Amino acid sequence: SEYRKEDILKIAIEEEVSFLRLQFTDVLGSIKSLELPVEQLEKALDGEIMFDGSSIEGFVEVEESDMFLKPDFATWKILPWFEGEDKMARLICDIYTIDGAPFEGDPRSNLKRVLKEMEEMGYDQFSVGPEPEFFLLKLDSNNDVTLNVNDTSGYFDLDASDTSSACRREIAKTLAEMGFEIEMFHHEVGPSQHEISFKYQDAVTASDYIQTFKHVARVVSKKYGLHVTFMPKPLHKKPGSGMHYNVSLFKDGVNVFHNPDDEEGLSDEMRHFMAGILEHARGFTAVCNPLVNSYKRLQSGFEAPRFIAWSGMNRTPLLRIPATRGAGTRAEVRSLDPSANPYLATAVILKAGLDGIKNKMDLMSPVNENLYEMSQSHLKSRDIEDLPTTLYTALKALDEDEVMQDALGVHIYEQFRKNKLAEWNSYSAQITPWEIENYLKHY
Ligand code: GLU
Ligand code: MG
Ligand code: MG
Repeated sequence: SEYRKEDILKIAIEEEVSFLRLQFTDVLGSIKSLELPVEQLEKALDGEIMFDGSSIEGFVEVEESDMFLKPDFATWKILPWFEGEDKMARLICDIYTIDGAPFEGDPRSNLKRVLKEMEEMGYDQFSVGPEPEFFLLKLDSNNDVTLNVNDTSGYFDLDASDTSSACRREIAKTLAEMGFEIEMFHHEVGPSQHEISFKYQDAVTASDYIQTFKHVARVVSKKYGLHVTFMPKPLHKKPGSGMHYNVSLFKDGVNVFHNPDDEEGLSDEMRHFMAGILEHARGFTAVCNPLVNSYKRLQSGFEAPRFIAWSGMNRTPLLRIPATRGAGTRAEVRSLDPSANPYLATAVILKAGLDGIKNKMDLMSPVNENLYEMSQSHLKSRDIEDLPTTLYTALKALDEDEVMQDALGVHIYEQFRKNKLAEWNSYSAQITPWEIENYLKHY
């Protein structure tokens, strides 16, 4: 880390920081935060702040609930939207048990565990460049969110006057102030739909960035009287929001996905990694698309993937290889959506790819046709499987994939599964307006 304890203590005094937020993420992906007066900073930096984990989703039972927050010094940031007496800094933490071991239910610590497996295989960085998409929706007079869009522009549209572009720019600006390297921000295909993509980072930093980005987007959009939603498919018959992951592996600062001697500039390691992703795609879908609503996006149309295949330029399959070579050689995983817990999603994608390398899995040939239009028999003749179509079938696929369960560890797998099954059951018990409309009169 760039910061030592003394540096942080010094900056806090110089910058007149008054409060400190210690943050972590629960199994379902919500950011949790504890606020402390700055007088507690030294104790916090020493990892001595304790909390009760029993009420946190997916954590522990009441009888073993005391946990320690161990801050990662590299995540020290002064939050730019607090001023004067409220000046606030934050640190992202790992969670430790009272025995001094990383807590198995902590998604961030779990990701570090999977990264160790990667290091044992001789790689030193899993790079992730995320492209989260989101909608900005209007509020009503009670400040409740509505389904009304705030603009009607489309892909890459230049809409200089609208509040959406000002809001989107301020989100990007705030992130830049916090040290993010923003690749670009633009209007997406849907009305009031936007995307901000950041430069790739190591796996833990990228996951931290996604959580920070979501929080910043909340804070800033509120200021503009808007609500930002990362719900994957809020609007019927409009595009959904994805969160493409651009992934690659590095060894000694070199991207091992690139091979200048190969006809396509790609290494065998990359091909095996991609094969691993395709092999475990059904298994990791519940983690990367964790809401009932996620599956309303993963249908044919609107550039969301429905089939397990890869291609160069074609945007209908799950995996794509963008044209960049050299350090930017990467695979774009297109199925993830921004409701995913980034620490868990990163862990399963990495583990799937590593499994492909370990077992030297063969990569299927690319599919350059539009998959949405391919007939059932054609799909079958080419051995192209589809992704799970509901949260329930995705959970079943996870139950059948031990490698993906290992990527979560027993504790998180069980807690995640229990929670998500309950979510599915609650949804399935509903009688929806669609059913009433289509069935009530006819049956
Ligand atoms: N919104 C599309 C999705 O659901 C992605 C569009 C794009 O290629 O950026 O994944
Ligand atoms: Mg996009
Ligand atoms: Mg993309």
